[in-house]
Amino acid sequence: MSQSNQRAYNFNAGPSALPLEVLEKAQQELVNFQGSGMSIMEMSHRSATFEEVHNEAISRLRKLFAIPNDYEVLFLQGGASLQFTMIPMNFLQAGKKASFIMTGVWSEKAFKEAKLFGEPIQIASSKENKYRNIPSSEEIHIDSNDAYAHLTSNNTIYGTQWHEFPNTGGVPLIADMSSDIMSKPIDVSKFDMIYAGAQKNLGPSGVTVVIARKDFLAMANTEIPTILKYSTHAESNSLYNTPPTFGIYMLGEVLKWIEEKGGLTVIAKQNEEKAKLIYDAIDNSNGFYTGHASKESRSLMNITFRVADEELEKQFLSEAKEAGFIGLNGHRSVGGCRASTYNAVPLETCEALRDFMLAFQTKHQ
Ligand SMILES: *Cc1c(COP(=O)(O)O)cnc(C)c1O
Repeated sequence: MSQSNQRAYNFNAGPSALPLEVLEKAQQELVNFQGSGMSIMEMSHRSATFEEVHNEAISRLRKLFAIPNDYEVLFLQGGASLQFTMIPMNFLQAGKKASFIMTGVWSEKAFKEAKLFGEPIQIASSKENKYRNIPSSEEIHIDSNDAYAHLTSNNTIYGTQWHEFPNTGGVPLIADMSSDIMSKPIDVSKFDMIYAGAQKNLGPSGVTVVIARKDFLAMANTEIPTILKYSTHAESNSLYNTPPTFGIYMLGEVLKWIEEKGGLTVIAKQNEEKAKLIYDAIDNSNGFYTGHASKESRSLMNITFRVADEELEKQFLSEAKEAGFIGLNGHRSVGGCRASTYNAVPLETCEALRDFMLAFQTKHQ
């Protein structure tokens, strides 16, 4: 029986909503996976059954995201946060520079770790503008000697998103896509590395997806611990040590769900439609609601806004909670409100929020 009528209006920023169909399939297969008499969590990661799940997830990811053949797809652990460390450890040498484009807290964290290994430099930043915008391409100048350039494609906390990526003039480009990976089709070949924790758009927490050009990986430093080398994972098909087997299974099921929906073009259209419902409620409110991000930098994944009056904002959040909306509080570092409308958040959930926002405004303005 479908449990859709008991599902919350889930706008959590991460971990976040998963497709109901995927959860129900996982539930159905939980105690006896494909007639094996055990769950996927209870079998060897070296078994043929798990390996098939693992390899299918990799090949689905390749196909759906149109990843060229000269790229590795890796499933790692430690979240995007470990990537903040692994990237400079592998690709930045003492005395070498890396260009960072600063668009929020996650860029700051990545920058901080890089300082331990080399000389990261902030070549552009929107910090003075409270991270309301993505720096324009005229502001971005990358030195051709830099080891790499780093950006955060979607800024989960501030609600901004890159809509066009900068030209690095041949310097390897690395992107943290944790909160918008596979929300739309992109040209993967523009990047030397893409990384993302799975828990926003792709599955449960515990799996980190890394997509990297093979010849870029070949340039990595060698004097580093085995498990922190990308080559270790590339050479063992991400089965060097025990992987997060259940997370990889769920990731594979989410990818299947994307495929069944019609792929990333269809998903992207739905995401635009969903975000528009809420942005329209903000823009047509005559200042009752105000968006945090500059319009041209708005994210289709995290919609950040304020209610005109602080007392009213508190009331908005508490009434929303009572009405069954989850996760609408802004990140603790910025306050306000935030609706995360990732791939798995249904259109109906966004319509319900739009309706709630309109009704709240009518009642209180
Ligand atoms: C959530 C998030 C992170 C942190 O991810 P972890 O998996 O918790 O390490 C990093 N970058 C971005 C853009 C995020 O949204």
